[in-house]
Amino acid sequence: MTYRVTFIPGDGVGPELSEATRRVLEGTGVEFDWDVQEAGADVMDKYGTPLPEHVLDSIRRNGVAIKGPITTPVGTGFRSVNVALRKELDLFCCLRPCKSYPGVRSRYEGVDIVICRENHEDLYAGIEFEQGKPETAKLIEFMSELSGKKIREDSGVSIKPISVSGTQRIVRFAFEYARKYGRKKVTAVHKANIMKFSDGLFLATAREVAQEYGDVEFEDRIVDNLSMQLVNRPEEYDVLVLPNLYGDIVSDLCAGLIGGLGVAPGGNIGDSTAVFEATHGSAPKYRGKNKVNPMAMMFSGMLMLRYLEELDAADRLEAALAAVIAEGKSVTYDMKPTRDDPTAVGTSEVADAVIEKLQAAR
Ligand code: NAD
Repeated sequence: MTYRVTFIPGDGVGPELSEATRRVLEGTGVEFDWDVQEAGADVMDKYGTPLPEHVLDSIRRNGVAIKGPITTPVGTGFRSVNVALRKELDLFCCLRPCKSYPGVRSRYEGVDIVICRENHEDLYAGIEFEQGKPETAKLIEFMSELSGKKIREDSGVSIKPISVSGTQRIVRFAFEYARKYGRKKVTAVHKANIMKFSDGLFLATAREVAQEYGDVEFEDRIVDNLSMQLVNRPEEYDVLVLPNLYGDIVSDLCAGLIGGLGVAPGGNIGDSTAVFEATHGSAPKYRGKNKVNPMAMMFSGMLMLRYLEELDAADRLEAALAAVIAEGKSVTYDMKPTRDDPTAVGTSEVADAVIEKLQAAR
């Protein structure tokens, strides 16, 4: 079977990482018919937007995409392409598996945590009121009246909506993922002791959904306690499900546990569409230098293979990446003992080494 997949090279270091990733995905023997689509800063002049409608149409049509990082231009009024993609395509879950591989430089070993972060709600819903604006003064007055609590007049306000339906969807996703991949436990993360009607609702809804999945253990943790425990005993955690803001922060914490941005993959997933991408950004200062680590995007490609049910190819790609990491020879500067290690290889040489391992395993 040939998979038609939307392929977005991105900008900054995106094109070189995407090319390296395309080569290793094809090296697994799975056949792809790439629907190449340009988005990001480089197409703004041509289309007047960094995310042209035909790019969204392509992803809707194909149902699956892999993308390189895209720069969010500062001060142009354009919102982030990455955020817009998640909203437009209703990709409600940001999936971030964080797994340690022997050979990665990290203070930890044996970490294997999967993060399911809610992507649309919470303080990131974009409902904000600027300090000093007339509508903000009106809102402050209204909220003070309703709640009986004084809000300082010189405040800015961000609204934190968390819904039953949005929470059900992300918690079900976490349980379904746990079932599908043989995971034992789902932990819901919150601050329900303080925010009773937003995080409290998240927790109550998570508990209700958990009842539908008697075969998977369920527990909850307050986010500050979880952060401390992740640093002390990360091996105790399995699948985490979190509202948007905590999900964002804990994702980076967990990326740190497994060796940093160079190896942290991700996917944004909805009911019928998924876009796979690395956690890191477009690192513009390294553009065109064949320098940065393509492994985070290659691991994102591995997640895509699993999503496509190409489980054998996904396992082979994971084993090839793990072997290259364990050898420590054909890796980029960020995976060497010192950042100026002269034996560090470039982006495309990492792809060569991974393809060699794939071929050797055939
Ligand atoms: P960044 O992740 O691009 O880079 C930060 C630093 O991390 C780099 O300077 C580099 O030292 C290191 N780094 C990142 N990726 C690496 C890799 N693959 N290998 C080795 N080292 C790597 O973060 P930033 O500088 O904050 O953001 C740059 C741009 O990327 C911004 O415009 C931001 O909006 C965008 N961004 C895009 C995405 C996305 O496309 N999903 C995600 C995050 C940031």
